Amino acid sequence: MKISIDDIKNAKDQSLKINFDNEVKNLSTDGNVVAELIFKAYGKFINAKGKIVANVKLVCDRCLKDFTNKIEVDVDETYILGRLIPSEDAHSGQEIELKDGDFVTELTDTNEIDVDDLIYQSVTLNIPNPCVCDINCVGDPEIEKYIKKEISDPRLEVFKNLKIKKEGK
Ligand SMILES: [Zn+2]
Repeated sequence: MKISIDDIKNAKDQSLKINFDNEVKNLSTDGNVVAELIFKAYGKFINAKGKIVANVKLVCDRCLKDFTNKIEVDVDETYILGRLIPSEDAHSGQEIELKDGDFVTELTDTNEIDVDDLIYQSVTLNIPNPCVCDINCVGDPEIEKYIKKEISDPRLEVFKNLKIKKEGK
């Protein structure tokens, strides 16, 4: 899903609310990703604020089992139309205040914001690390045996990325 910057600027109060309820490319989820986002234009800046909820399918770092983790992200993302020149833009009297360390996405050669990309980036940045199915997961001793061996035996490399299916399914 893409939204046009003109649509944001032409909206009431230059503020456009988006209700997203769809799948997101490259993001493996159980059901749709749901997001409510408000895009607001401030001169050369566009700010995106809102909330994303996604049931993301993950693989446990310890036992390698598939599991689903509900990830909720509070979005606060700023875009600049064109390139950011810090000395000019930081003091240009815009309503939006940029602090050092704020992440600003430059929008060059485009008049659209890619909502799927915003959601993808926001969710993947919030996947926990380490990524474990349960805080008490101790891993699977059978698998760990292979992972430890893997270093000395490259033929066992395959086990590292192998998804283990539960028996009887
Ligand atoms: Zn686990």
